[in-house]
Amino acid sequence: MTKNKTAYKTGLALPIQYLKNIGPKRALYLKRIGVETIEDFLFLVPRRYIDRTKISKIRELTTGQHGSVYGKIIATGTRKTKAKGNIVRIVVTDQTDILEAVWFNRPDLKSGFKTNQPVILSGNVTYYERKQMVNPFYEIITEDSDSDKSFVYTGSIIPIYPLTEGLSNWEIRRPMQNAINSYLHLIPESLSHSILNQYSFPTIKNTITNLHFPKNLIDAQIGQERLKFEEFFYLELILALRKLAQSCQQKGYTLPEKGFITSKFLKLLPFQLTQGQNKVLSQIKADMAKPTSMNRLLQGDVGSGKTVIAVYAMLIAIENAFQAALMAPTEILAEQHYLVWHDKLKELGIDSCLLTSSTKTAQRKSYLADIQTNKIKIIFGTHALIEQDIKFHKLGLAIIDEQHRFGVMQRAALINKGINPDFLVMTATPIPRTLQMTLYGDLEISVLAEKPPGRKRIITRLTTDKERDKIYKFIQDKITEVRQVYIVCPLIEESEKLDLKAAIKTYEQTSKIFAQFRVGLVHGKLKSSERINIMEQFRRHELDILVTTTVIEVGVDIANATVMVIEHPERFGLAQLHQLRGRIGRGQETSYCILIGPDSSFAPAMHRLKFFEQNDDGFLLAEKDLEIRGPGQLLGTRQHGLPDLRFADLTEDRALLFKARDEAFALIDADPNLSKPENQIIRSTFLSKFKDRTELLRVG
Ligand code: ADP
Ligand code: MG
Repeated sequence: MTKNKTAYKTGLALPIQYLKNIGPKRALYLKRIGVETIEDFLFLVPRRYIDRTKISKIRELTTGQHGSVYGKIIATGTRKTKAKGNIVRIVVTDQTDILEAVWFNRPDLKSGFKTNQPVILSGNVTYYERKQMVNPFYEIITEDSDSDKSFVYTGSIIPIYPLTEGLSNWEIRRPMQNAINSYLHLIPESLSHSILNQYSFPTIKNTITNLHFPKNLIDAQIGQERLKFEEFFYLELILALRKLAQSCQQKGYTLPEKGFITSKFLKLLPFQLTQGQNKVLSQIKADMAKPTSMNRLLQGDVGSGKTVIAVYAMLIAIENAFQAALMAPTEILAEQHYLVWHDKLKELGIDSCLLTSSTKTAQRKSYLADIQTNKIKIIFGTHALIEQDIKFHKLGLAIIDEQHRFGVMQRAALINKGINPDFLVMTATPIPRTLQMTLYGDLEISVLAEKPPGRKRIITRLTTDKERDKIYKFIQDKITEVRQVYIVCPLIEESEKLDLKAAIKTYEQTSKIFAQFRVGLVHGKLKSSERINIMEQFRRHELDILVTTTVIEVGVDIANATVMVIEHPERFGLAQLHQLRGRIGRGQETSYCILIGPDSSFAPAMHRLKFFEQNDDGFLLAEKDLEIRGPGQLLGTRQHGLPDLRFADLTEDRALLFKARDEAFALIDADPNLSKPENQIIRSTFLSKFKDRTELLRVG
């Protein structure tokens, strides 16, 4: 939800702790589930509902089935067991029979249960000495004289809110009634009458009431649908407006391939382009030759050979007397691009440079001058190349490598270095097809499906610390066969210092164990000159083993490195592991990725790691990632620059997504500025939801 950032907050923007029955402590708990204001609270959607009219007698419960019962607690207790830890248990009766409920590792529940309390339990029925529910949903019914409380139980449908430690369901429901009584009237309608009518959606006020205090399940469901639809609708509205904005930029450059540079370039390459690369190139060439600007996403799995396509496209821009820039997310990657290509470019008579935040001041100054006078034609760099004082003579093509690492603002900043330059973004993060269409509705998409010929499958093995000796022996054998090895140590911001220490320690140990070999260390805290130096040594095979943090995660391309050992793989997500593994398997040799995983096969990451061991298809891994972590993570705002989804699920609610998309695009078609009277609700909702995107409404 949009938040009013003024110091004095009232109404819907009032911090939740001031709501009656909340207070500072509960406010803290609510914050963990994303609720900070009254408005957030009113939009806190229940995860599911229990229908009290469907409550069974305990006698009627059958094992293996889901059921809900209402009874009184007749016994409570706790136990500690070796295998399963802390257990809280209660026994409940409803006169027909008794039922035991147990919770594992929830010691916080202990104090909540007292004998004689009425309680509703809902869960799967099992049998262990008696009828049992393991970790069921529970709600203690407090039927005391406090009229404030009793109202909440009059309805037959109980909403179940997302769980947060320290806060029980009824502690949400009581203040919810207060919130509805005092604040609901402040919520403005956010969909037009015609959409409400067309889909038979309730008004926003009825929607909220129905979500929290539904008369029946259907009402609750329709309420949720409306919120999901609305969320998709505004998201698609952004896309429709972006697309419109692009089609209005008629004025782009016409950059046809001339061939006098590109033909020489092809001869310099040590390989032939694959069919896939040629196909993608022809799409790019066609775009560039048009008088409108190109907006293309090139998607190809790690190692599929995207860089050479980028360089080729840059040469077309040069043939037309324009400049081209390639922005990469890490210094290591930008450095690599520069080091790999600048000699070849020089041979073609083209000056290029590298701009990162480590570029020395004097050097930078001279580059900037040469860029402005068009002496330097190709610029490789990190986000340092979008800094204000960098002025291009005539930027014809802007490329972003590994674009999921950049935000929309950085994208825009790069494009703004020219006047509607052609624009190409490249990514190795595969996006499931439906999402492509909906999230990148404003970009044309090219897919590089095949990898260069002769690539062998990477053999991946999930091992444990116990096998270290074997692993070392294996490394030794491979180095004797003149291969090179990465040893990757995790390093994340939150525990940066400790992680760095661990990486340095791994380096020291590795140097001792492999005293006969040459071992190097790179991490993000090195000075850039040192880092370049070590990466170059490794590239030139003056090092056999490179101990590294995740600085090499994206893009690094050293074909002779065929072994990668990953320490603590459980600390990485699937997408990240896939990127890392993509550093090997880049030549003709079989490559090996060895994960030194947790000892216990019960470790939570085991499922993910096993899946990774058995799959090397980027698409499959991305879908799994989507399943495990949800789209919020995989498609975080950083990646597509769109707001995070709060109510809807991109995979589950696809049907609604398509409807919302059609609706949004049709609307912008009919009323590009949202200026018609009947669309004023949508216009004002859009503007208040997306304060940073108001410019989108000025284009049409
Ligand atoms: P990515 O798509 O991950 O960015 P790169 O562009 O780094 O992949 O390419 C990976 C490696 O494959 C590079 O060493 C590159 O030189 C090589 N390569 C690219 N195209 C071909 C080809 N057609 N034949 C053989 N090798 C190729
Ligand atoms: Mg790359």
